[in-house]
Amino acid sequence: MSADLSAAGVARTVHRALAAHAGQVDDDGIVLYAGTNVPSPAAAAAHAPSVSGRPSMGWPGEKYQVGLDHLDTLEVLAPLLVAELMEGSYAEVRLQSATLANLAVYTAFARPGDRIAVLPEVAGGHASHHAQGVPAVRGLTVVDLPYDPERLDLDYARLPAFLRVHRPRIVVVGASLMLFPHDVAAVRAACDEVGAILLYDASHVAGLVAGGVFQRPLRDGAHVLTFSTYKSFGGPSGGCVVTRDAALAERVSTVAYPGMLANYDAGRLGALAVTAAELAEHGRPYAAACLANARALARALHDGGFRVASRDGEFTRSHHVAVDALALGGGEAASALLGEAGVYLSGIGLPWQRADEGLRGLRIGTQEITRRGFTPEDQPAVADLVRRALLDGEAPDRVRADAVALRREVDGRSA
Ligand SMILES: *Cc1c(COP(=O)(O)O)cnc(C)c1O
Repeated sequence: MSADLSAAGVARTVHRALAAHAGQVDDDGIVLYAGTNVPSPAAAAAHAPSVSGRPSMGWPGEKYQVGLDHLDTLEVLAPLLVAELMEGSYAEVRLQSATLANLAVYTAFARPGDRIAVLPEVAGGHASHHAQGVPAVRGLTVVDLPYDPERLDLDYARLPAFLRVHRPRIVVVGASLMLFPHDVAAVRAACDEVGAILLYDASHVAGLVAGGVFQRPLRDGAHVLTFSTYKSFGGPSGGCVVTRDAALAERVSTVAYPGMLANYDAGRLGALAVTAAELAEHGRPYAAACLANARALARALHDGGFRVASRDGEFTRSHHVAVDALALGGGEAASALLGEAGVYLSGIGLPWQRADEGLRGLRIGTQEITRRGFTPEDQPAVADLVRRALLDGEAPDRVRADAVALRREVDGRSA
């Protein structure tokens, strides 16, 4: 069959792919992938694709383009709401992703040749913190912070001496797997000794921070907070930088524009503003429900025979759960098999793994199933699907049929 690449043929192909994707993931899937979410209906309705193609360059009231008076409203509203929600005073919301938000912070506060200190990759340190990612774009050298795999946290006792030796310009905490909060005040005290900027990357936990159930990074001393707006935050895709300090905010925003952006996607600002306002109103029960679901799912997976990461007998204080998948062929093989069974998640490195073990773990996030109405009472059924596919070796098709049935049951309940 030769592909029909006429405009009409391509439009048909695109339409079919989008419909099939929505059916598979949005309608039928049990999505446990930690870095995603579903926007609320009001946020989805506030997303304006036509605005995305209207360049908007400069500050509200003093734009390069004319005729953008109504967009100015959004450009003031969205950052105000985001800053307030995250307990900051200033928010830069124009960058397209948290990766670019991190690059903006690196560019504002470090020069080529400077050092930054970040969490090790096996502790969930993100590509945007590491040498293969945007630090290289800014010409930075990356060193790993001292980490305690037993505590699943920084090694605070070794931190001050480490910073005195390496003298990083920026210390980055926060990661792609965050089961427990960090002691931000302790990190800030160590940063102050060497004059380092403390960046807390809340990409995964921003919805929990907004809900006030995890930790309060800016109040506890982080100079800047970055995050992805589409993970636990539950908004459109994008990245934010929030701070309490006017001088830091100005440096970041000057890097963002005109440094890294000319036009940007203003079409998502309305959705971001609505999401922030909704989190201000209902963020706490949403975030608390994410945590309750994570605890219940971790317990059910543990009871079902999985090796679930824990500290002092506690599995998680966030919406994340991590499972050691070494005996299941590793996180990548296990997540591929689960995908065939209609349960979507990803592999992740684990702090106690060897470098040659690939992604030894499975990472779970409960934010999407929470928004879809799953409760702690549903978690044994979710864990059962995972167990049947991964431990019992049941045919993925049969597990998938029951995964879809579980979605229908929960959808019916919350409809
Ligand atoms: C997902 C993630 C990012 C990148 O977010 P994008 O918005 O996709 O660029 C950055 N930092 C951490 C810790 C993440 O988990």
